Amino acid sequence: MDLHEYQGKELFASVGLPVPRGSVAGTPEEAERVAAELGGRVVVKAQVHIGGRGKAGGVKLADTPAQAREVAEQIIGMDIRGHQVRQVLVEEASEIARELYAALVLDRGEKKVLAMLSGIGGMEIEQVAHDHPEALARVWIDPLAGWSDYHGRRLCFGAGLGADMVRPIGDVFARLWDAFVRFEATLVEVNPLILTADGRLVALDAKFSVDNNSLYRHQDIAAMRDVAAADPQEQMAAERGVTYVKLDGDIGVLGNGAGLVMSTLDVVADAGGAPANFLDVGGGAKADEIVSALEVITSDPKVKVIFFNIFGGITRCDEVARGVLTAIERMGIDMPIVVRLDGTNDVEGREIIETAHVSTLHVEATMLEAAHRAVALAAGMER
Ligand code: GDP
Ligand code: MN
Repeated sequence: MDLHEYQGKELFASVGLPVPRGSVAGTPEEAERVAAELGGRVVVKAQVHIGGRGKAGGVKLADTPAQAREVAEQIIGMDIRGHQVRQVLVEEASEIARELYAALVLDRGEKKVLAMLSGIGGMEIEQVAHDHPEALARVWIDPLAGWSDYHGRRLCFGAGLGADMVRPIGDVFARLWDAFVRFEATLVEVNPLILTADGRLVALDAKFSVDNNSLYRHQDIAAMRDVAAADPQEQMAAERGVTYVKLDGDIGVLGNGAGLVMSTLDVVADAGGAPANFLDVGGGAKADEIVSALEVITSDPKVKVIFFNIFGGITRCDEVARGVLTAIERMGIDMPIVVRLDGTNDVEGREIIETAHVSTLHVEATMLEAAHRAVALAAGMER
C-alpha cells in the first residue's frame, strides 16, 4: 500500500528524521489557515500517489496565506496523470542549498534491502541512473544483520560526497532503516533529501510503501489507506470480498481457484488476447456470488468480452450454469460471455446453457477453445 507524502512524513518524523513543519488541507480555506499558522513563505503540494508533481504544476510556493489559498484552489481538483488531487500538504518553504536522493527498497531477487544514495536529487532516479550512473551509489543490506555505519560510509563515498557528509548521511539512513523495519515497508524514498542553506539534511519529499501482508500488525498505518484514491474496480472488489487484480486488457476473466485463473490469463495471452483482470470467485457458484463478481468486471469500461472459466470439482457445473443465467437475467448484461465448463456435471451444465438460448452466451468445453472464442469476439467488436 502506498502512502501519501504527508503520511510518509509523519512516519519519518516518528523516527526522528527531520521534515518541514506542515499540515494537510482539503480545502483552499484550510490551506490558508495552515499557512497563517506556519507564518512566512509556504509550499503547497498536491497529495497523489504519483511522482512528478512538481513538473505537473502540483507543487507551488506561496508568500502569504492568501496566496496559499489561491494556489491551493488551483491544485485541488487538478488531475495529475489520472490521479485527482483532493488534498494538499501545506508546509514551511525550505531554503535549498543542494538536492540529494536517498532510498531503501526491498530487492526480492537479492533477498536484501537495497540502499541508494545520489548527490543528484530532485529528478527521476531512473533518469539519474541513466545519465549519471556513477553518481548513484548502491549498497545491499542483509535484513538480519541490519544497518551499520560502514554502509553509510560506502554510500557517501560511492556517491562522491565529502567526508563531512558521512555522519549526517549515516544518521539519515539509520533512521530510514528504523522506519523501513518498524513499519514493514517495501520502499522508502526521499527525493529530494535536501541540504538546507544552514547545513541541515531535511526530507523534502516522502514516498512510502508498506507491505500489505503486514498491515494487520499496524492498525494506524492501515487506517491511512486513501479509499478514494484506489482504483474503482479494486475498491468495489474489496467491498465485496472478491479477489480481484486489475490488468490492462479488454477480456474480463473469472474462474474458480487462483491457479486456474492464472492459467486462464496465460491461455488468453497465448490466444493473442489481453486479460482485463484477474478474478477468483473461489468455490462460489451461487447466483449472488456470480452477480457480485460480474458487477466488478462489467464496471470496467475497457471490458468487451467476459471469459468465465470453471473447472467443476466440489463446484458443480450445472449449478454454475444456473448461476450464470440468473446473473445475466438480473443484470441485463449484453456483452458476450464465453463459458468454459468442465468437470463435475459439465454435460448437464452445458445443456442448461444451450437450451436457454441466450445469444450472447457461448459455451466451450476446453479452456483453449474458449480463449480463442473470447479473443475473436473481442477483436470483432472493435470494428
Ligand atoms: P515531486 O515532483 O512529486 O517529486 O515533488 P517534490 O516534493 O519532490 O517537489 C518537487 C520539487 O519542488 C523539489 O525537487 C524542489 O525542487 C521543489 N520544492 C519542493 N518544496 C520546496 C521548498 O520548500 N522550497 C523550494 N525552494 N523548492 C521546493
Ligand atoms: Mn520528489
